[in-house]
Amino acid sequence: MPEVDGVDISNFCTIFGIITIMNRGIMQTEKISRRGSKQKSIVLNAVRTLCNHPTAEDVLFKAREQIQNISFSTVYRNLGILVDEGDLITISGTGSEVHYDHVLKNHCHIQCRVCGKVRDVNFPAVDFKEISESDASGFTVDGVCVTFTGTCRQCRAKQGTKGAQ
Ligand SMILES: [Zn+2]
Ligand SMILES: [Zn+2]
Repeated sequence: MPEVDGVDISNFCTIFGIITIMNRGIMQTEKISRRGSKQKSIVLNAVRTLCNHPTAEDVLFKAREQIQNISFSTVYRNLGILVDEGDLITISGTGSEVHYDHVLKNHCHIQCRVCGKVRDVNFPAVDFKEISESDASGFTVDGVCVTFTGTCRQCRAKQGTKGAQ
């Protein structure tokens, strides 16, 4: 099993973060007339800037850097709209918390059983279009969500196991 602790994608995240900051700069120069669309943009940019499959609470803290008094319900509502409109996808892992992802292509995730964080896994995504109806208990298949489970490097280090690096 390759190391899939999420550290390997840090370069990608850094690059994406820079692009996001640039985009945000462009957006700030535009006159966004409607309050609702401004809030939605801030929520979407928060997910993109965090780049780590944040929960709604994580997004709230990030969004408050832009709008200090933005409420959890506003953030949550806008996350739902962005999912409905296809700008974000949700990842339901082992816990009750939903994580949000701005990377829309079919890819696999891993969730830490200890702290709950979610990261990408560099592993071929399942091509669900090849699964026949008869192989799927009579279902037609229209999506796939693969989430591996494990223990992240930080949690292993805290536990002091041999696997810690
Ligand atoms: Zn962990
Ligand atoms: Zn992802």
